[in-house]
Amino acid sequence: MLTIRNLHVSVDDTPILKGINLQINKGEIHAIMGPNGSGKSTLSNVIAGKEDYQITEGSIEFEGTNILELAPEERAHLGIFLSFQYPVEIPGVSVTNFIKTAINENRKARGLEPMPAKEMLKLMRERMELLSMDKSFLSRSLNEGFSGGEKKRNEIFQMAMLQPKLAILDETDSGLDIDALRIVANGVNKLRTSENAFLVITHYQRLLDYIVPDYVHVLYKGRIVKTGTKELALELEEKGYDWIKEEAAV
Ligand code: ADP
Ligand code: MG
Ligand code: MG
Repeated sequence: MLTIRNLHVSVDDTPILKGINLQINKGEIHAIMGPNGSGKSTLSNVIAGKEDYQITEGSIEFEGTNILELAPEERAHLGIFLSFQYPVEIPGVSVTNFIKTAINENRKARGLEPMPAKEMLKLMRERMELLSMDKSFLSRSLNEGFSGGEKKRNEIFQMAMLQPKLAILDETDSGLDIDALRIVANGVNKLRTSENAFLVITHYQRLLDYIVPDYVHVLYKGRIVKTGTKELALELEEKGYDWIKEEAAV
């Protein structure tokens, strides 16, 4: 599904990513861990197509298409979803209307008619049920006065409605409480199929208590310095990152 080869990325001429290789197949969950400042958010932003990054070398292919030349919206239409895309508060816009707009814009870009209201409502109900969410949430104003957990719920609901092929969840929020972690994990576990894939980026091992990744990669100073399975995440929790730093320095 996603193939990243020898990816080098700079910000303001400072190299941040220094030769990333990563392959994600459908049906897989990959976790990227690593100390603060190692380039995790840079990687997720570059996959999603955010501006302000200079790709100096390498390639990113999504289902065989080189996506480096595509705008973020075009990547979204191909089925790439990045959480935290809409962190702004939009007073007066309900969760429902926001999701409707997002879905219909996505359809329009693919040459499809807007989803009939009835069908939209049915899909919303189904997805809310799947995620064990209360329907009163739909009439809430977007992000206005949302708690950390509610913001997560909104993101996961967006993801559930858009049904991306590849969802990238960048858990940047250091204040993520256990409730919020469970919402994210429950969402991933409920939405995963043999046809989609997840890239879960986290500084915290504890998220992986709830999501079992197929692969865990450690990003350090812009390079993937180690890849393993969930045991690697446990080892990191126990021993921290110092041993990785030492190994990487050799
Ligand atoms: P992580 O998500 O692993 O904490 P980031 O990708 O946010 O790491 O940052 C990696 C490095 O790139 C850091 O040294 C950070 O200061 C730098 N960096 C990231 N984005 C920018 C930016 N827009 N401008 C300047 N430096 C940046
Ligand atoms: Mg950071
Ligand atoms: Mg980050």
